[in-house]
Order: sequence, then structure tokens, then C-alpha cells
Amino acid sequence: MITEKLQNAINGQITAEMWSANLYLAMAFHLEVEGYDGFAHWMKKQWSEEMEHAVGLAEYVIKRGGTAKVDKIDVVPEGWGTPLEVFQHVYEHECRVTEMISKLVDLAVAEKDKATQHFLMGYIAEQIEEEATSKGILDKLKKAGEAGILVLDSQLGQRA
Ligand code: MG
Repeated sequence: MITEKLQNAINGQITAEMWSANLYLAMAFHLEVEGYDGFAHWMKKQWSEEMEHAVGLAEYVIKRGGTAKVDKIDVVPEGWGTPLEVFQHVYEHECRVTEMISKLVDLAVAEKDKATQHFLMGYIAEQIEEEATSKGILDKLKKAGEAGILVLDSQLGQRA
């Protein structure tokens, strides 16, 4: 059985993952308006992935005898700029999420909950990928001219 403290902290992360989902959906809409259909497609995939993260956390809490909560989601920023600016935000955001998950691990250690530590390691592994992927795209955008950005837009439009 999960402790109430850990349950509440994971519920907070469910809210954070849903906020991330909204963030990426807002970015998708912005990029679509700007004519970057490929980047927009990539962001929509990211949006659904974040919802899966939220649901995965909820299912874990329930499996451990806790109560999962869908809480109020704060409004996400707007007024995004170029694809480079957008992906700079994505990378920085994912680094912050890694810190959040890391703090959850610290709490699971403090609560001596090995099962939750084990479960959260999957989320840590996911964050390694999220950081690397967004940094990879950001690095390419930094090097690309306008034509290169359109090639990258087309490539990211292939994300399965
Ligand atoms: Mg996530």
C-alpha cells in the first residue's frame, strides 16, 4: 500500500503531466497556425504521450491501493515564437520535469517505498529520452537555415 504522502505527491505529478500535455497541444496549435504542419504533428504526438504518462501514474497509484486524482490544470503560456524558440522551451521544460520526477524518487526513498522507487525509474528513463530528443531537435534547429527548418518540419511530420 502506498503512503498518503507519496500518493499525494504522485497525484501532483499527474496534474503536472496533464499540464505538459496542454503545453504541447498549445504549441501544436501555434505551429500549425505558423504553417509548420510537421512540427505541429510532432507536438500532438507529444501531447498524447504526456496524457499516457498521467494515466500511467494514476494506474500505479490505484494498483498500490491509493486514490488517483484529476485536479485543476493551470493555464499554459501562449505567444510562442519561432520553431527554435518553441523547442528551446520544450527542452527546458523536459529538464524541469526530470527534476520533478527526481524529487518524487527522493520522497519514495524517504518513505522507504521500494516498489515506487522501481516504478519511478521507468519515468526517469523516459526523461532521459525526452531530454535527448528535444535537445537533438533544438541543436538541428540552431544549425538550420529556413530551408533546413522546412526539411526538419517534414521529417518530424513522420513521427509515428
Ligand atoms: Mg511526461
